[in-house]
Amino acid sequence: MYVANKRRSVREAGMRDVHRSLPQGATQKQVAACIDELAADPHISGILLQLPLPGQLDAASLIDRIPVGKDVDGLTTASAGLLARGEYGLRPCTPSGVIELLNSAGVPTKGAHAVVVGRSQLVGRPMAQLLLLRDATTTLAHRHTTDLTAVTRTADILVVATGICGLIGPEHVKPGATVIDVGIHRTPTGLTGDVRAGELNSIASLITPVPGGVGPMTIAMLMANTLQAARWTHHPAHPH
Ligand code: NAD
Repeated sequence: MYVANKRRSVREAGMRDVHRSLPQGATQKQVAACIDELAADPHISGILLQLPLPGQLDAASLIDRIPVGKDVDGLTTASAGLLARGEYGLRPCTPSGVIELLNSAGVPTKGAHAVVVGRSQLVGRPMAQLLLLRDATTTLAHRHTTDLTAVTRTADILVVATGICGLIGPEHVKPGATVIDVGIHRTPTGLTGDVRAGELNSIASLITPVPGGVGPMTIAMLMANTLQAARWTHHPAHPH
């Protein structure tokens, strides 16, 4: 479903869609060769390796074969380093989509206390770094945080990416806070998030829906990153 949605968006944006589907039993060498071929092709602006990979493959070393200028998922070690240093680079799509949502809703980040729950490489960690780059006072909470409720209750901006369905409820939220729910769960009654959104209506000032909130932004940012990557390739000194 994710791959089909991304491919459709690529075509709708007027970009060329190049899809390489390898067999389930593909070896590390075969996947590496496929990435290397796309990396060397001057007509390819962006490459993403759809995760998760089958167990016989080492995802981290395969991701790191993607050149930093074509890393439209922003997941290579080089892209993570540029983000950590606050330098120009391609950022992971889900957290940059959250930043776009905050911008478009006019939520100020400068000086705000932002709490991110979850510290994955894909979402939580880069999310905290992006908020820090936007001058938020940033706290990163995770499964070993001793008193999660006490931490989240101080958040002006609360971003939740734990993969635990319904973890966050009214007891975790400061009145007037902005709540961003990154989680996606399939339940018998439909898609739902990490936040019990229905219980927060009279507490949070803004809250993202699931589905239809962060999810579509992730794909939109993938398109934006691909355009940014193409500009970066053609104008390395002036990518903006
Ligand atoms: P992950 O499993 O890699 O990481 C989860 C993080 O949550 C970990 O850092 C862990 O320490 C933390 N955590 C787990 N239980 C916790 C608890 N009880 N209290 C505090 N922290 C806890 O997951 P991920 O890849 O970051 O994804 C998180 C969720 O976001 C999933 O539901 C995933 O499906 C969803 N997701 C959505 C999008 C999107 O486009 N909307 C993109 C990526 C992931």
